[in-house]
Amino acid sequence: MTENATPSPVPDDPAVSPESSPRRRSHVVRVGRVRLGGGLPVVVQSMTNTDTADVDATTQQVRELAAAGSELVRITVNVPEAAAAVPRIQEKLEAASCEVPLVGDFHYNGHQLLRKFPECARALAKLRINPGNVGFGRKRDSQFAELVEIALKHEKPIRIGVNWGSLDQALLTRMMDENARRAEPRPANEVLREALLRSALESARRAEELGLGADRIVISCKVSGVLDLIAIYRELARRCSYALHLGLTEAGMGSRGIVASSAALSSLLLDGVGDTIRISLTPEPGGSRTREVLVAQELLQVLELRHFSPQVSACPGCGRTTSTFFQELAGKIELYLRGRMPIWRERYPGAEKLKLAVMGCVVNGPGESKHADIGISLPGTGETPNVPVFIDGKKAVTLRGTRIAEEFQELVERYVQQRFGKNPGPTATQASLGSEHPATSPSQSGLR
Ligand code: SF4
Repeated sequence: MTENATPSPVPDDPAVSPESSPRRRSHVVRVGRVRLGGGLPVVVQSMTNTDTADVDATTQQVRELAAAGSELVRITVNVPEAAAAVPRIQEKLEAASCEVPLVGDFHYNGHQLLRKFPECARALAKLRINPGNVGFGRKRDSQFAELVEIALKHEKPIRIGVNWGSLDQALLTRMMDENARRAEPRPANEVLREALLRSALESARRAEELGLGADRIVISCKVSGVLDLIAIYRELARRCSYALHLGLTEAGMGSRGIVASSAALSSLLLDGVGDTIRISLTPEPGGSRTREVLVAQELLQVLELRHFSPQVSACPGCGRTTSTFFQELAGKIELYLRGRMPIWRERYPGAEKLKLAVMGCVVNGPGESKHADIGISLPGTGETPNVPVFIDGKKAVTLRGTRIAEEFQELVERYVQQRFGKNPGPTATQASLGSEHPATSPSQSGLR
């Protein structure tokens, strides 16, 4: 039993990553080849939005999400055709050497689908069930038990995923009635939060009673309000030691979704709460589903919980830099880093921790560049068109002319090879120092 006022002791896990900050100790849950919880690095996950019955489209999207860095991918399993498609999707992924574990998302009829398609249960690495719609009335308990039995039979973990859009209405009504009878009723919102918590924790306790170990249970309690989410997860973290899946549900589109998810998840992650995250973004029409994966990675990276790719500090630009060259250079560098990272990850472990600066003028340019591993300080409007590059805090070279972007990329490449390669040569600073870079005509540079 792991619901209690003081979380029960969690076995030590020697594989805790040195990257992980002080974190809430939860049970380690194995999901296929991925482990989450126990202070291990926070796992990034995402979900497809294809029709799962469309094997090719779903396989393709799972591969895209995995290539973008999603470490688990959830797929909807809502109808027999989808359940029948799951093992075929898994086969195709294996044939393409894509090893990302698949999580099946079940609502209403999960017990029937998994009973009728046992190969679907075998192909999945985790089952997500929602206690609010696992069954209704007298059937609820037996259908929940059936799902747990299937998980036990196939040795799969379960995520008990409560969502306030589909909260167990019988439980909520009972709690609201109890509250109304109190001498001093609590605000309805508080009762709603408590109902979410109770739905998740009572379901987890029931699953344990049925034989599912705490190391096979992940919990989520998703709401769409930032402050509600923070309050609910803080309480959840206090009351149990299950691994927690964090996510703001229905976060929305574009900047609103990103800001709301980041605000909610940052607060919890900085408190050490959360073992796996999903950023639920509504894609723009024609937009890529992989954006939610990149946002999740960037969030973990800015919080210094994990590192995925080099970080570029770029100033926002202002009236002191009216040329577009500065924005173009920052964009080119970002693209370059993204393109090189798959190779660097293999050849130069640690390159993902590289810090770069791309700055627009002399006001903050040299200072910020010195804080980075390698930084470039472009001249603002009216400044001499020299472009100093700083490496490890020292001015290393001055670029001029029309190939500034290419030459800066070459310096970055050389720095990565020398600092993160197995047999580093002279230090990056030494390698790039010496003579100043040959000047070309300033008028060719596109700088003013
Ligand atoms: S570094 Fe220069 S160009 Fe960039 S925001 Fe600051 S003052 Fe403006």
